[in-house]
Amino acid sequence: MRDGVMKKVLLLTTGGTIAARESGQGLTPGIHCEDLLHMLPELKDYFQIDSQDILNLDSSNIQPEEWQYIAQIVAEKLPYYDGIIITHGTDTMAYTASALSYMLQNLQKPVVLTGAQIPIERMFTDAKRNLQTAFAAVDQGIKGVTIAFDDKIINGCRAVKVRTMGFNAFESISAPYIGEVSADGLHIYHRQTKDTREPFCLKKELCADVFLLKLIPGTNPQIFDRLKEMKYRGIVIEAFGAGGTHFERRNLIPKLRELVESGISIVACSQCLYEKSDFSLYEVGRKLLECGIIPGRDMTTEAIVTKLMWALGQTEDPQKVREIFKTDYAGEVTLENQ
Ligand code: ASP
Repeated sequence: MRDGVMKKVLLLTTGGTIAARESGQGLTPGIHCEDLLHMLPELKDYFQIDSQDILNLDSSNIQPEEWQYIAQIVAEKLPYYDGIIITHGTDTMAYTASALSYMLQNLQKPVVLTGAQIPIERMFTDAKRNLQTAFAAVDQGIKGVTIAFDDKIINGCRAVKVRTMGFNAFESISAPYIGEVSADGLHIYHRQTKDTREPFCLKKELCADVFLLKLIPGTNPQIFDRLKEMKYRGIVIEAFGAGGTHFERRNLIPKLRELVESGISIVACSQCLYEKSDFSLYEVGRKLLECGIIPGRDMTTEAIVTKLMWALGQTEDPQKVREIFKTDYAGEVTLENQ
Protein backbone atom coordinates (compact mmCIF):
# COMPACT_ATOMS: atom_id res chain seq x y z
CA MET A 1 0.00 0.00 0.00
CA ARG A 2 1.36 3.43 -0.96
CA ASP A 3 -0.09 6.66 0.48
CA GLY A 4 -3.21 4.81 1.61
CA VAL A 5 -3.91 3.58 -1.93
CA MET A 6 -4.09 -0.16 -2.39
CA LYS A 7 -2.28 -1.51 -5.41
CA LYS A 8 -4.31 -3.63 -7.79
CA VAL A 9 -2.68 -6.99 -8.41
CA LEU A 10 -3.69 -9.86 -10.66
CA LEU A 11 -2.58 -13.33 -9.56
CA LEU A 12 -2.37 -15.85 -12.40
CA THR A 13 -1.71 -19.49 -11.56
CA THR A 14 -0.15 -22.02 -13.92
CA GLY A 15 0.46 -25.02 -11.61
CA GLY A 16 3.80 -26.20 -10.25
CA THR A 17 4.76 -27.47 -6.80
CA ILE A 18 3.38 -24.36 -5.10
CA ALA A 19 -0.11 -25.58 -6.06
CA ALA A 20 0.58 -29.31 -5.87
CA ARG A 21 -1.11 -32.13 -3.97
CA GLU A 22 -0.28 -35.81 -3.77
CA SER A 23 -2.28 -37.53 -6.49
CA GLY A 24 -1.25 -41.12 -5.84
CA GLN A 25 0.98 -40.85 -8.91
CA GLY A 26 3.29 -38.21 -7.56
CA LEU A 27 2.81 -34.53 -6.84
CA THR A 28 0.46 -32.88 -9.34
CA PRO A 29 -0.83 -29.33 -9.45
CA GLY A 30 -4.37 -29.16 -8.07
CA ILE A 31 -4.79 -26.11 -5.82
CA HIS A 32 -6.73 -23.17 -7.27
CA CYS A 33 -5.92 -19.48 -7.03
CA GLU A 34 -8.59 -18.75 -4.38
CA ASP A 35 -7.12 -21.50 -2.18
CA LEU A 36 -3.63 -20.02 -2.55
CA LEU A 37 -4.95 -16.63 -1.50
CA HIS A 38 -6.86 -18.13 1.45
CA MET A 39 -3.53 -19.31 2.82
CA LEU A 40 -2.38 -15.68 2.99
CA PRO A 41 -5.43 -13.77 4.25
CA GLU A 42 -3.38 -10.74 5.33
CA LEU A 43 -2.60 -9.86 1.70
CA LYS A 44 -6.16 -8.53 1.31
CA ASP A 45 -5.39 -5.81 3.86
CA TYR A 46 -2.68 -4.41 1.63
CA PHE A 47 -3.67 -5.20 -1.93
CA GLN A 48 -6.76 -5.32 -4.11
CA ILE A 49 -6.37 -8.76 -5.65
CA ASP A 50 -8.04 -10.51 -8.57
CA SER A 51 -7.02 -14.01 -9.50
CA GLN A 52 -7.38 -16.49 -12.33
CA ASP A 53 -6.23 -20.06 -12.95
CA ILE A 54 -4.84 -20.00 -16.47
CA LEU A 55 -2.99 -23.34 -16.59
CA ASN A 56 -2.66 -26.34 -14.33
CA LEU A 57 0.65 -27.88 -15.31
CA ASP A 58 3.89 -29.13 -13.89
CA SER A 59 6.34 -26.71 -15.46
CA SER A 60 8.06 -29.60 -17.27
CA ASN A 61 4.98 -29.43 -19.50
CA ILE A 62 5.22 -25.68 -20.06
CA GLN A 63 6.57 -25.12 -23.57
CA PRO A 64 6.73 -22.26 -26.10
CA GLU A 65 2.98 -22.44 -26.79
CA GLU A 66 2.28 -21.88 -23.08
CA TRP A 67 4.72 -18.94 -22.98
CA GLN A 68 2.72 -17.34 -25.80
CA TYR A 69 -0.56 -18.00 -24.01
CA ILE A 70 0.76 -16.50 -20.76
CA ALA A 71 2.22 -13.48 -22.59
CA GLN A 72 -1.11 -12.88 -24.35
CA ILE A 73 -3.04 -12.87 -21.07
CA VAL A 74 -0.48 -10.62 -19.36
CA ALA A 75 -0.61 -8.14 -22.26
CA GLU A 76 -4.42 -8.07 -22.18
CA LYS A 77 -4.74 -7.66 -18.42
CA LEU A 78 -1.79 -5.40 -17.65
CA PRO A 79 -3.54 -2.06 -18.40
CA TYR A 80 -6.00 -2.77 -15.56
CA TYR A 81 -3.44 -3.63 -12.84
CA ASP A 82 -0.40 -2.22 -11.09
CA GLY A 83 1.31 -5.55 -11.53
CA ILE A 84 0.80 -9.21 -12.31
CA ILE A 85 2.06 -12.18 -10.28
CA ILE A 86 2.34 -15.55 -11.98
CA THR A 87 2.74 -18.73 -9.94
CA HIS A 88 4.68 -21.34 -11.87
CA GLY A 89 6.65 -24.54 -11.34
CA THR A 90 10.27 -23.89 -10.56
CA ASP A 91 11.79 -26.37 -13.02
CA THR A 92 11.31 -24.26 -16.14
CA MET A 93 10.47 -20.94 -14.51
CA ALA A 94 13.71 -19.35 -15.71
CA TYR A 95 12.85 -20.22 -19.34
CA THR A 96 9.35 -18.76 -19.01
CA ALA A 97 10.71 -15.63 -17.33
CA SER A 98 13.28 -15.12 -20.10
CA ALA A 99 10.77 -15.76 -22.88
CA LEU A 100 8.31 -13.28 -21.34
CA SER A 101 11.12 -10.71 -21.04
CA TYR A 102 11.44 -10.65 -24.84
CA MET A 103 7.76 -11.07 -25.72
CA LEU A 104 6.59 -8.26 -23.41
CA GLN A 105 8.54 -5.44 -25.00
CA ASN A 106 9.06 -2.13 -23.15
CA LEU A 107 7.35 -3.43 -20.05
CA GLN A 108 6.85 -0.60 -17.56
CA LYS A 109 5.02 -2.54 -14.85
CA PRO A 110 5.95 -5.50 -12.60
CA VAL A 111 5.36 -9.03 -13.89
CA VAL A 112 6.63 -11.32 -11.12
CA LEU A 113 6.96 -15.09 -11.32
CA THR A 114 7.11 -17.14 -8.18
CA GLY A 115 6.67 -20.71 -7.01
CA ALA A 116 7.86 -23.00 -4.26
CA GLN A 117 9.99 -26.02 -3.47
CA ILE A 118 7.28 -27.35 -1.10
CA PRO A 119 3.50 -27.21 -1.74
CA ILE A 120 1.65 -24.40 0.01
CA GLU A 121 -0.44 -26.78 2.13
CA ARG A 122 2.59 -28.53 3.62
CA MET A 123 4.51 -27.76 6.77
CA PHE A 124 7.79 -25.93 6.08
CA THR A 125 6.44 -24.62 2.78
CA ASP A 126 8.34 -21.74 1.23
CA ALA A 127 5.29 -20.82 -0.88
CA LYS A 128 3.87 -18.19 1.46
CA ARG A 129 7.14 -16.34 1.84
CA ASN A 130 7.76 -16.40 -1.90
CA LEU A 131 4.26 -15.09 -2.64
CA GLN A 132 4.72 -12.34 -0.05
CA THR A 133 8.00 -11.39 -1.71
CA ALA A 134 6.29 -11.28 -5.11
CA PHE A 135 3.60 -8.95 -3.73
CA ALA A 136 6.33 -6.76 -2.21
CA ALA A 137 7.96 -6.52 -5.65
CA VAL A 138 4.68 -5.25 -7.11
CA ASP A 139 4.26 -2.88 -4.19
CA GLN A 140 7.71 -1.41 -4.91
CA GLY A 141 6.86 -1.07 -8.59
CA ILE A 142 9.80 -3.13 -9.84
CA LYS A 143 9.37 -2.94 -13.60
CA GLY A 144 9.99 -5.81 -15.96
CA VAL A 145 9.81 -9.56 -15.62
CA THR A 146 11.32 -10.80 -12.36
CA ILE A 147 11.44 -13.94 -10.25
CA ALA A 148 10.68 -13.64 -6.51
CA PHE A 149 12.21 -16.53 -4.58
CA ASP A 150 13.86 -17.14 -1.23
CA ASP A 151 13.54 -13.48 -0.20
CA LYS A 152 15.24 -12.28 -3.38
CA ILE A 153 14.13 -10.55 -6.55
CA ILE A 154 15.99 -11.64 -9.66
CA ASN A 155 15.85 -10.23 -13.18
CA GLY A 156 13.86 -12.95 -14.99
CA CYS A 157 16.36 -13.28 -17.83
CA ARG A 158 19.28 -13.67 -15.40
CA ALA A 159 17.73 -16.38 -13.25
CA VAL A 160 18.82 -20.01 -13.28
CA LYS A 161 17.48 -22.85 -11.17
CA VAL A 162 20.62 -24.18 -9.50
CA ARG A 163 19.24 -26.39 -6.72
CA THR A 164 16.69 -29.20 -6.78
CA MET A 165 15.81 -29.14 -3.08
CA GLY A 166 17.20 -26.02 -1.40
CA PHE A 167 14.95 -23.05 -0.78
CA ASN A 168 17.63 -20.94 -2.47
CA ALA A 169 16.80 -22.71 -5.73
CA PHE A 170 17.46 -19.70 -7.97
CA GLU A 171 20.51 -17.54 -8.45
CA SER A 172 21.04 -14.35 -10.38
CA ILE A 173 23.80 -15.22 -12.85
CA SER A 174 26.43 -12.65 -13.80
CA ALA A 175 24.12 -9.83 -12.71
CA PRO A 176 23.24 -8.28 -9.35
CA TYR A 177 20.10 -9.24 -7.45
CA ILE A 178 17.42 -6.61 -7.88
CA GLY A 179 16.39 -6.71 -4.24
CA GLU A 180 16.10 -8.69 -1.06
CA VAL A 181 13.65 -8.90 1.82
CA SER A 182 14.79 -8.40 5.40
CA ALA A 183 13.01 -7.50 8.64
CA ASP A 184 13.14 -3.97 7.29
CA GLY A 185 11.12 -4.76 4.20
CA LEU A 186 12.17 -5.15 0.58
CA HIS A 187 15.45 -3.39 -0.19
CA ILE A 188 16.11 -2.55 -3.80
CA TYR A 189 19.78 -2.89 -4.74
CA HIS A 190 19.55 -2.45 -8.43
CA ARG A 191 16.62 -1.46 -10.64
CA GLN A 192 16.84 -3.35 -13.87
CA THR A 193 14.86 -1.83 -16.68
CA LYS A 194 16.01 0.87 -18.99
CA ASP A 195 13.56 3.75 -19.12
CA THR A 196 12.11 3.75 -22.56
CA ARG A 197 9.68 6.05 -24.28
CA GLU A 198 8.64 3.25 -26.59
CA PRO A 199 5.13 2.00 -25.81
CA PHE A 200 4.57 -1.44 -24.36
CA CYS A 201 3.84 -4.03 -27.04
CA LEU A 202 3.37 -7.76 -27.28
CA LYS A 203 5.69 -9.54 -29.70
CA LYS A 204 4.80 -13.14 -29.11
CA GLU A 205 5.92 -14.85 -32.31
CA LEU A 206 8.34 -17.66 -31.48
CA CYS A 207 10.04 -20.43 -33.43
CA ALA A 208 10.45 -23.60 -31.37
CA ASP A 209 12.90 -25.17 -33.86
CA VAL A 210 15.89 -24.56 -31.62
CA PHE A 211 18.28 -27.23 -30.37
CA LEU A 212 20.66 -27.04 -27.41
CA LEU A 213 23.87 -29.04 -27.65
CA LYS A 214 26.28 -29.38 -24.75
CA LEU A 215 29.68 -30.33 -26.16
CA ILE A 216 31.60 -33.20 -24.62
CA PRO A 217 35.19 -34.10 -25.39
CA GLY A 218 34.70 -36.24 -28.51
CA THR A 219 31.35 -34.88 -29.78
CA ASN A 220 30.78 -36.48 -33.18
CA PRO A 221 30.59 -33.81 -35.96
CA GLN A 222 27.88 -35.83 -37.73
CA ILE A 223 25.39 -34.68 -35.10
CA PHE A 224 25.22 -31.42 -37.07
CA ASP A 225 24.13 -33.28 -40.23
CA ARG A 226 21.27 -34.79 -38.26
CA LEU A 227 20.25 -31.39 -36.84
CA LYS A 228 20.24 -29.91 -40.36
CA GLU A 229 18.12 -32.81 -41.64
CA MET A 230 15.69 -32.19 -38.79
CA LYS A 231 15.30 -28.60 -40.07
CA TYR A 232 16.37 -26.85 -36.92
CA ARG A 233 16.59 -23.12 -37.61
CA GLY A 234 18.63 -22.33 -34.53
CA ILE A 235 21.27 -24.16 -32.47
CA VAL A 236 22.74 -23.17 -29.13
CA ILE A 237 26.12 -24.70 -28.37
CA GLU A 238 27.43 -24.87 -24.83
CA ALA A 239 31.17 -24.85 -25.51
CA PHE A 240 34.07 -25.43 -23.14
CA GLY A 241 35.35 -22.86 -20.64
CA ALA A 242 35.73 -19.29 -21.86
CA GLY A 243 34.83 -20.57 -25.33
CA GLY A 244 36.28 -23.45 -27.28
CA THR A 245 35.59 -26.66 -29.16
CA HIS A 246 37.83 -29.44 -30.41
CA PHE A 247 39.12 -29.37 -33.99
CA GLU A 248 41.65 -32.22 -33.79
CA ARG A 249 40.46 -35.64 -35.05
CA ARG A 250 36.76 -34.82 -34.75
CA ASN A 251 36.73 -31.35 -36.31
CA LEU A 252 33.42 -29.63 -35.65
CA ILE A 253 34.37 -26.43 -37.47
CA PRO A 254 33.61 -27.38 -41.15
CA LYS A 255 30.18 -28.69 -40.13
CA LEU A 256 29.41 -25.54 -38.18
CA ARG A 257 30.48 -23.37 -41.12
CA GLU A 258 28.26 -25.40 -43.45
CA LEU A 259 25.27 -24.92 -41.15
CA VAL A 260 25.83 -21.17 -40.78
CA GLU A 261 26.19 -20.84 -44.57
CA SER A 262 22.92 -22.71 -45.01
CA GLY A 263 21.14 -20.04 -42.92
CA ILE A 264 21.00 -21.74 -39.52
CA SER A 265 21.69 -19.35 -36.63
CA ILE A 266 24.18 -20.78 -34.16
CA VAL A 267 24.76 -19.12 -30.79
CA ALA A 268 27.65 -20.33 -28.64
CA CYS A 269 28.05 -19.86 -24.92
CA SER A 270 30.01 -21.43 -22.09
CA GLN A 271 29.22 -24.55 -20.08
CA CYS A 272 30.38 -22.58 -17.05
CA LEU A 273 27.49 -21.06 -15.15
CA TYR A 274 29.17 -17.86 -14.10
CA GLU A 275 30.84 -15.02 -16.00
CA LYS A 276 31.12 -14.32 -19.71
CA SER A 277 32.33 -16.42 -22.60
CA ASP A 278 34.96 -14.88 -24.89
CA PHE A 279 35.50 -16.80 -28.10
CA SER A 280 38.32 -14.46 -29.17
CA LEU A 281 40.61 -15.63 -26.34
CA TYR A 282 41.82 -19.03 -27.58
CA GLU A 283 42.47 -20.53 -30.98
CA VAL A 284 39.82 -23.16 -30.18
CA GLY A 285 37.31 -20.32 -29.81
CA ARG A 286 38.41 -18.05 -32.66
CA LYS A 287 37.77 -20.83 -35.13
CA LEU A 288 34.13 -20.78 -34.00
CA LEU A 289 33.88 -17.01 -34.44
CA GLU A 290 35.45 -17.33 -37.91
CA CYS A 291 32.78 -19.77 -39.03
CA GLY A 292 30.07 -17.31 -38.10
CA ILE A 293 28.69 -18.31 -34.72
CA ILE A 294 26.95 -15.64 -32.67
CA PRO A 295 28.66 -15.09 -29.29
CA GLY A 296 26.36 -15.56 -26.29
CA ARG A 297 28.57 -13.34 -24.10
CA ASP A 298 27.42 -13.50 -20.47
CA MET A 299 23.87 -14.65 -21.10
CA THR A 300 22.48 -17.71 -19.37
CA THR A 301 21.65 -20.72 -21.52
CA GLU A 302 17.97 -20.17 -20.67
CA ALA A 303 18.14 -16.56 -21.84
CA ILE A 304 19.94 -17.57 -25.07
CA VAL A 305 17.60 -20.44 -25.99
CA THR A 306 14.51 -18.26 -25.51
CA LYS A 307 16.10 -15.26 -27.25
CA LEU A 308 16.93 -17.43 -30.24
CA MET A 309 13.36 -18.80 -30.38
CA TRP A 310 12.06 -15.24 -30.15
CA ALA A 311 14.51 -13.85 -32.72
CA LEU A 312 13.64 -16.62 -35.20
CA GLY A 313 9.97 -15.81 -34.58
CA GLN A 314 10.57 -12.17 -35.49
CA THR A 315 12.62 -12.66 -38.66
CA GLU A 316 13.71 -15.16 -41.29
CA ASP A 317 16.91 -13.22 -41.96
CA PRO A 318 19.97 -14.66 -40.12
CA GLN A 319 21.61 -11.22 -40.28
CA LYS A 320 18.69 -9.75 -38.32
CA VAL A 321 18.96 -12.59 -35.79
CA ARG A 322 22.60 -11.55 -35.34
CA GLU A 323 21.48 -7.94 -34.78
CA ILE A 324 18.93 -9.07 -32.18
CA PHE A 325 21.77 -10.75 -30.27
CA LYS A 326 23.64 -7.43 -30.34
CA THR A 327 20.71 -5.81 -28.52
CA ASP A 328 20.02 -5.84 -24.81
CA TYR A 329 16.24 -5.97 -24.34
CA ALA A 330 15.81 -6.60 -20.63
CA GLY A 331 19.23 -6.71 -19.01
CA GLU A 332 19.89 -10.22 -20.32
CA VAL A 333 23.34 -9.44 -21.73
CA THR A 334 26.36 -7.25 -21.08
CA LEU A 335 27.38 -5.82 -24.42
CA GLU A 336 31.07 -5.28 -25.04
CA ASN A 337 33.10 -5.43 -28.20
CA GLN A 338 33.42 -9.01 -29.41
N1 ASP B 1 8.16 -30.16 -10.98
C1 ASP B 1 7.73 -28.90 -10.38
C2 ASP B 1 7.44 -27.93 -11.50
O1 ASP B 1 8.35 -27.37 -12.05
C3 ASP B 1 8.79 -28.40 -9.47
C4 ASP B 1 8.45 -27.12 -8.75
O2 ASP B 1 7.51 -26.41 -9.03
O3 ASP B 1 9.23 -26.77 -7.82
O4 ASP B 1 6.31 -27.73 -11.84
